[in-house]
Amino acid sequence: MKINPAHIGFDIDGVVADTGGAFIRIACEEYGINSLTLEDITSFDVIDCLDIDQGIIEEIFGRLLEDPLQAGLAPMQGAIPVLHSLAEKAPLTFVTARPHEEPIALWLKHFLQPDTFNTIRLVAMGEHDKKTSYIKNLGLKYFVDDRLQTCRKLAEAGITPLVYNQPWNKNGHDLPTVNNWQDIEALCSE
Ligand SMILES: [Mg+2]
Repeated sequence: MKINPAHIGFDIDGVVADTGGAFIRIACEEYGINSLTLEDITSFDVIDCLDIDQGIIEEIFGRLLEDPLQAGLAPMQGAIPVLHSLAEKAPLTFVTARPHEEPIALWLKHFLQPDTFNTIRLVAMGEHDKKTSYIKNLGLKYFVDDRLQTCRKLAEAGITPLVYNQPWNKNGHDLPTVNNWQDIEALCSE
């Protein structure tokens, strides 16, 4: 598989942003829940796999959605340099199910060089299950996401999903996967 960088798009949480890592750190530092590791998050719907009060889970995700910079959300290792190198060949496209665009736009602006940030396409559409039509309309052929249901829908619609391997998406599929941003870079280089 060789991917033209103009034809690939990226989910943000769990792909560009280390949302799982941030969740665990906030749970530990702010709520004293220090027994969690990333491997404990075996379901995309965190409530289904962690024995933590639902109110705490919602509060942590609320903070990560509303002010990701303040909440200390960090990029996934290697994401930013690879995005900068891909941006030399084509504008970057991000499609997220986050409900509000501005907080995550500010987050991207903080980490991307101005020349790169100024050319991005960013869609925040609020619903996981509607992602496919947006991705299709943007003319993308490949999409990197960590939510298995989203990846399955993309595959049904003729878009090649790349499942970004995380503890919550490892089982029960035979879709193409990537382990890290070096894998993405390799797929996108001539
Ligand atoms: Mg995601």
